[in-house]
Order: sequence, then structure tokens, then C-alpha cells
Amino acid sequence: MGSVQIVTTILAAAITAVAVWLAVRAVLKMVAVIRLGQPAPERFSDTVARARTMLVETAGHTRMLKWGVVGAAHWFVMVGFVVLSLLVLEAYFEVVTTDGGLPIIGHWTIFGLVTEIIGVLGLVGILVLMAIRLRNRPTRPGGRSRFTGSTMWQGYFVEWIVLLVLIFGFVIRGFKVATDHFEFPFWATPVSHAVGAVLPDWADGVSVAAAIKIIISMTWLIVISLNVTMGVAWHRFLAFPNIFFKREPARPAGSGLGALRPMTSQGKPLDFEEADPEKDQFGVAHVEQFSWKGLLDFSTCTECGRCQSQCPAWNTGKPLSPKLLILSLRDHAYAKAPYLLAGGGKDLTGEEKATQAQLAHLDVLALAEADKPLIGTAEEGGVIDPDVLWSCTTCGACVEQCPVDIEHVDHIVDMRRYQVLIESSFPSEAGVMLRNLENKGNPWGAPQNTREDWTKGLDFEVPRVGEVDDFEYLFWVGCAGAFEDRAKKTTRAVATLLNEAGVKFAILGEGETCSGDPARRIGNEFVFQMLAQQNVETLNEAFEGREKAKRKIVATCPHCFNTLGNEYGQLGGEFEVVHHTQLLAHLVATGKLTPVQPVDGGVTYHDPCYLGRHNRVFAAPREVLGDAIAGDLTEMPRNSERSFCCGAGGARMWMEEKIGKRINVDRVEEAMATGAKTVAVGCPFCSTMLSDGVNGKGAGEQVEVIDVATVLLRSVKPEQPQGGKETAPIGG
Ligand code: SF4
Ligand code: SF4
Repeated sequence: MGSVQIVTTILAAAITAVAVWLAVRAVLKMVAVIRLGQPAPERFSDTVARARTMLVETAGHTRMLKWGVVGAAHWFVMVGFVVLSLLVLEAYFEVVTTDGGLPIIGHWTIFGLVTEIIGVLGLVGILVLMAIRLRNRPTRPGGRSRFTGSTMWQGYFVEWIVLLVLIFGFVIRGFKVATDHFEFPFWATPVSHAVGAVLPDWADGVSVAAAIKIIISMTWLIVISLNVTMGVAWHRFLAFPNIFFKREPARPAGSGLGALRPMTSQGKPLDFEEADPEKDQFGVAHVEQFSWKGLLDFSTCTECGRCQSQCPAWNTGKPLSPKLLILSLRDHAYAKAPYLLAGGGKDLTGEEKATQAQLAHLDVLALAEADKPLIGTAEEGGVIDPDVLWSCTTCGACVEQCPVDIEHVDHIVDMRRYQVLIESSFPSEAGVMLRNLENKGNPWGAPQNTREDWTKGLDFEVPRVGEVDDFEYLFWVGCAGAFEDRAKKTTRAVATLLNEAGVKFAILGEGETCSGDPARRIGNEFVFQMLAQQNVETLNEAFEGREKAKRKIVATCPHCFNTLGNEYGQLGGEFEVVHHTQLLAHLVATGKLTPVQPVDGGVTYHDPCYLGRHNRVFAAPREVLGDAIAGDLTEMPRNSERSFCCGAGGARMWMEEKIGKRINVDRVEEAMATGAKTVAVGCPFCSTMLSDGVNGKGAGEQVEVIDVATVLLRSVKPEQPQGGKETAPIGG
């Protein structure tokens, strides 16, 4: 070992010791913070499926590849990070001796070849990612960036480190070539040989370059260890457990979509018959009341902004960005952690748990952070502004896009639950809807005895459950379908088509109440459970003696479809629920319905969030339309998984939209830009929102918003009176 090697070895050892010590300290801190969360025992079930999903999503980059070039570039950088970590390890041998290398595999030509290829592709990948970050930088002129609000220096820092580590990998090899210490052939390592051709024959070059590479790598480790909230770096490690512990490992995309998590206290679902707000946690009032998985979610956010770029609230000028919401919760959790780890926190009656002695030596900043209300305005020092919390439509676009499976909607609803159930604090307009649900069983407060009014005027009898036993489908009409004038036309169209196809169906009539979706999404779990339990009882009675496969329900409202199919199981109601577009597609495919007159004038289709993204029903409505219309369906730029919300989900239907541009107007402009004369929908809420948007633009005479079922009915029974344009306002 020469004098240069002595210096490089000491330098490498010293910086590595510091970096490893800081990294261990950082990991222990992160684990301690995440452990502050509430238990989530369900996250340990089904470990085989979890491991499989984690491997598929990470190695296959299935979520990231939806973003084309970025996904591919990121894959090479990720593989580069894993494989080239071996080369960082090898550098520790190279600082000691100029012809050093990894024992055993370091001498295999295949090792030389693979690391050469990954090194080159990693270089290309990181340059692409750097270009994309620069092109989308928030400060660029014009346009909104998905990186707005991200900590940009951290992204640039990580990318430069990756670039330099890759470059120095080739420099080390180049010096080995130049000094004739390189054992791999030209065909396996052409880039290394090319670099070697321009480097001097400097014997110590290998050790010096290896030391620089180690110093760069360890600088990265030191910086991220001193910044435990640096998700852009830490996600390389945290993404694995975050994906492993996602809510539904079997779901291909967006594990936090579909059903909402039940309300839990100490990790157990809450039963409102026994729940006590002084003993049980009702929603989330403090950051430590999220589950540990919630805190892991916050820690894992990469700040990539994919969620933000798709969020309807953010895109229409509301203060909500799912990314910024997650980052606020993360920063608050880590800033408050010293106080919590010292024993601080409030019990369920609001009393401080820590003694004065426990808090005596705490940093004032941690104490100040602990005093912040989780939900509060800027003047109140709140972590999340109420306007942020209530802007969410629960559309799921953020969950769908998140490459590390963060479950934003669950977190938002958990915070809403506390605000509604304990603080009674929510947009006042929604109070009428909640009162109507409690007193009348529907959000509009319509009399229950008018639930069957939609059947009037039909030229066939609509059977009720109890009057007939041999029905195949229970037709779940839903409150909108029963009381709202536009939706009633869809209900009649579906009933007419089912009757035409000879499907045996029956309705509950006055036995039906609201599915509970708006109550649950606004955060009123109490009202949701009241309605849901009543419906589960009614439905279990209606299907008594039938196995699950024969407990079939068809629903026209995607919110009911989602709640009955995905959430009633949490309360003992197991049913086979289909959306009417699925059943209609099946009836057309099997020849039970025959479209005879194509509907023309150009048709576009708006995917309802709770049908498409939340439940992956994208094909069926398009199949129905494909059979019923003249020519091809005209797609909007934002369609299917990336469809843009109508603005009504998450109980936003019953709240005023006072900030920014109206979401329905944004969507209608997109629909009208296609030139289609018909905007087909598959949801009564979308129908209302888009019709209002079209009318608001003064285009009610040129563009019609109608349900897919109505389009099909026009094609199957062109002679059938259609009842004119669906422009009536909400009414009983
Ligand atoms: S669910 Fe939709 S509205 Fe809510 S934060 Fe996510 S993208 Fe935005
Ligand atoms: S998509 Fe996921 S990782 Fe990216 S910023 Fe949003 S929450 Fe963070």
C-alpha cells in the first residue's frame, strides 16, 4: 500500500464511519416516529400476496411505467442503484490497492458486462430524469408544475449524486484500463475501455477516483441522514415496506381506492353501539392518531407531484394538493415527534399526558409544533387548512397515480371524521343533507312514500321484492334514481331495458334508504353505519337462503355500487353487485338486447370516479356505447384511469364550490372541445354536474348530457318516447 492508498483508505473509512453512524441514528429516529402511530394489525395479513405485489410493483415498476419515459428512466436508475451499490462496495477494495476488486464475482466477465450495461442505462436514465425535472421546474414560465411545492434542491441533489457516482464508476474502470489492471475484455466493457483510452497512465488514479466515489456516496448518506423527511431519497428504502403494507395487496392499482377503511380505535373497527368518545378515538385529531402505516405513508412520499398533477381540486385553483397535504402531515409529524417521544400527547379528554418534568428539556420548536391544531386556518396555526380538507372530492386520482401506494383518501376522511363527529365542524350547507339522511333516509329529504314514483307511466309492472321470489337481480334504485328528475329518466331507461331483455328483477321500493355514501365520505360514520346496517338487514332478508353468487344487485349509481359491493361486507352484507352498464353490456353481447338505430351526432364518455378509478369498470360503458352509437366514441384527453372528476364526489355534491374554477365547468369544457353533441355518463351525480356545466356555458341546446342507458334505449327502442332533454333541476 503506497502513501496515496493510506490517505484514500483513511478518508474512505472516516467518512463511512460518520455516514453509517448518522444513518443508523436516522433509521432509528424514523422507526420511532412511525411507531408513534396507532396499531394496524390488518396490515400483516396475507404476507405472500403482499410480498408478490411488492416485488411486481418495484421490480416491474408497474405504477411508474404508466408515466412512459419517466417510468422507464426511473427503472434504470433504480436498477442502477441496486446493482451499482456493488461497485461502491468494490471501491472500498480499490482505495486500498490499485488492482483491487470485489472478491469472486468481481472477476467474472458477466459481472463486468452487467455493471457496464446498467451503468450506461443508468446514466441515460438519470439524464432523462434531470431533464424532466428541469423542464417541469415550478419556476419555468407559464403552466403549473407537478413539482410546485416540492423541495427542489433535494431532487437536484439526489440526481447529481447519482450522476457523479455513475461517472466515477467509469473513471475508476478507465484508470484500470489505462494502467493495465483491467481484466474485462473490450466486448464486455466498451465504455470503460473508451474512457481508459483518454485517461493518463496514472497508477494511483484508481484509488483516488474510488475515494472520490466513496466520498460522494457517503455525502449523500450523511445529507439524507440529517434530513429524515427527505422523501426523494428515503423512498428508495421506504417504498418497499410501504407497498408491502398497503391496504389491499391484491389490487393492481390504488390500494386505497374502492372501499374506505372502517373507522378504528386502537386498531379495532369501531362499533357505534358501544363506542365512547372519551375512551375511543373518533377519527384523527392529532397526527399521532393516524395508524403507523399512515406515518409510513407520509415518510415515503417522494414529492414527485403525480398526485397533484391529476387532482381536480388543485387543477381548478383550490388550495388542496394531495402532495402538499401529505408533506404537511409528514413535516408536522417529524417536528412534533420529540414532544411525543418524550411522553407528550393529549388523551381523549384533551388532557396532557406528560408531566412537566418530561417536557422540561424539550426544544421550544417541538413544543410549539405540538400546540398546532391539525385542522385550522393559517391564523390559527393549523397544519391543514379547513378549505384543504373540504376541497377533496375523494375522486381517487391521487391514490391511482401515487407510485408508492400512499392512501390519501383514507387519511383525508379520517381527519374529516373527527371534524364532523366530535367538532361538528364542516361546511354548513352539508348539514341539511346530513339531517335529511338521519330523518328521511335520503339526502334530498324527499318523502319515503315517493320512492316508487319513477315507476309511474311505465307500460309494464315493476315487481317489488316480496311480491316475487324468483328475481335474478335486485334493482337498487338509489336516492338520486328515485327522487332526482334527471336520474329518474335513467332509472326508467334501465328498467325498460331489463324488461325488454327478459331479465327478472325486483326493487325494494320503500324498503330502500340511502346507501350511506355521502355520510361516510363527509366523515359522518355514525349516520353511515345507521343507514348501512338498516340496508344490510333489508337486503339479507330479501336474499334469504341464497348463496353469495345469487345475491345479485344491479345499481345505476356508482356510489351505491361501490358502497354496496365494497363496504357492506364490513357490516355483514355480502352481495354480487354490478353496475347497470356492466349488465347492459352483457345483455347486448348475449343478444338479449339489440341496438337497431345508431345514435349519431358524436358521443363522448365521462368516466365516473366511483365506477372507473375506484372499481376499474372502464370497458363496459364503452362497449354499450360502441354498440349503440354511429361511428366511434370520441374520447376526452383525460379518460379512463386519468378521467377528471365532475366535482360531486366526497359529498361535495352538497357543498358550495366557492374557491377557484368550478370543477364541472372544467370538465364540460373538455367534453365540449371534442365536438361531441352527446356527453354520456354512468352516474346520476355526474349527470347533474355536467348538465349544470353545459347549461352554465349556455350550450344546453347544442350538447346533451345523458346516461349510457338512455343512449342504448334510444338505439334499441327508437320509437320509445325519451322524455326530452335531461335538464330538470334536482327535485323530489
Ligand atoms: S381524492 Fe381527488 S380531489 Fe381528493 S386529493 Fe385526491 S385527487 Fe384531489
Ligand atoms: S404521487 Fe405519491 S409520492 Fe408522488 S407526491 Fe403524490 S403522494 Fe408523494
